[in-house]
Amino acid sequence: MPSTEKSIFGDISNQEKEYLPLSFGTVPTIFTRMISKVPKSPKIVKLRGDRAFYQPVSDEINLNDFNIKNNLRARRIFTHEFGHKIDHNVANILLVKDDVAKKFIPNPNRLVVDIKPKTIKFASGGSYTKSGVKKTLLDDVLNKQYGKNSVQISNSAQTQIMADRINLKDNIKVGLTGYTDDLIDLKNKIVGKTFDQRFAIRTKYLDDIINSKSFPLNKNEVKILLREKGITYDPTKTQTIDFVTAIKHKLVFSEYGKPIKLKLKNGTIFTASTRDAGTNVFDPMFADYVGAITDNAIGFGHKRSYYENFFKTETIKRGYGKITYGHSTEAFANFTSLSNTDNKEIYTKLMKYYAPQTTKTFNELYERSKLL
Ligand SMILES: [Zn+2]
Repeated sequence: MPSTEKSIFGDISNQEKEYLPLSFGTVPTIFTRMISKVPKSPKIVKLRGDRAFYQPVSDEINLNDFNIKNNLRARRIFTHEFGHKIDHNVANILLVKDDVAKKFIPNPNRLVVDIKPKTIKFASGGSYTKSGVKKTLLDDVLNKQYGKNSVQISNSAQTQIMADRINLKDNIKVGLTGYTDDLIDLKNKIVGKTFDQRFAIRTKYLDDIINSKSFPLNKNEVKILLREKGITYDPTKTQTIDFVTAIKHKLVFSEYGKPIKLKLKNGTIFTASTRDAGTNVFDPMFADYVGAITDNAIGFGHKRSYYENFFKTETIKRGYGKITYGHSTEAFANFTSLSNTDNKEIYTKLMKYYAPQTTKTFNELYERSKLL
C-alpha cells in the first residue's frame, strides 16, 4: 500500500496517531472531520495526581493517565480534553473567517441582547432618551474583546443550554415527587411477601418502567451502563431500582440539593432533595454533562465555584443563573467524549433525553465541520 492515504484525522502528531483512533474510532464521522480541520497538538504533557486539563493558550492537553487503550475512564478523559481543544481551535479559525462564521454558527443574527431605547420625561417638560443595546449571537460567540484562545464555539449553544437548564431545574420538584411515589408504591407492594414474590414484583416494576414509551433505554442498555460502573443489574438491589427510577424522572444526584417539601400521592408531606436520587449509578462524565448544563441543579463533577470563574455569555435568567464559558465548554467536552467512546449510542440517547436542545445544537456544530 502506498502511504499517500490521508488519515481521517488530517495532519496529526505521533501521540495523536496512537490515541485518536482509540477515542474517536477508525471510520470517518462528523467528529473525525472536525478534528481534520484543527491544528495538530503539541506534546501531551504528563501530570502528577488525578488531574487532566486543556490549556487554550499553548493548545496543550495535560493528562495523568495515558492508559487510553485499556482504561475507559482515561479514554473518556482524553476525549473530553480533546473536546475542549476542538471548542477553542474551531472558534480561533472562525475569528478570522467572518463569512464562514456566519454559516457555521446556527442562527448567527439572533439577538442575545436587545435593550430597547428608553425615553425619560421630566416634570419640567423636557426629556432624554437612553439609547438601546443590541448584540447578535455571532458577536457574543466570536467576542472580539476576549479574542483568540478565549473564544469557544460551544457558546453558540447558550440559548439551548439555558432552555434545557430551565426544563431540568423545573422538573426537580415533580421528578422527586414521582420518584418518591414510585418507591413507596413498590415498598407497599412487597411488604409481607415471600422472597420469590418480592423478586417478581421488583422485576415487573423495572420492566414496566423500561418498557414504557417515554423511557429512553432498553433493558440491555441499562445493564451495559450499570456494568460500566461495576454494578450488576439485579431487581433485588437498591442501585438497580434507583438507576432506572432516576432516569424515568430525569434526576441525577447533586451535592447541592436542598431539601424540598413534596406532597405525595397519598396526601402526606415528604422532604427530599437531589442528593437522594441517582446516587453512585451514573457515569461521572454523563453526570458532569447535565451538571454543566444545570449548574449542578442535577449532576456533579466540576464545582459551582469553578463555573463561576469564567467569562459570561449574554445568556442569563433570573432564578436560573448565567451561562458561563465554563458551563458551555464543559458540556461540549462531555458531549464530545460520550458521543465517541464506549457505548456512545446509549449515551447519545441518554443525552438527548435529559438535554435535547443542547445535544442537538452540539451535534449541528460538528455537522458544520464540512464548512471549514
Ligand atoms: Zn473539562
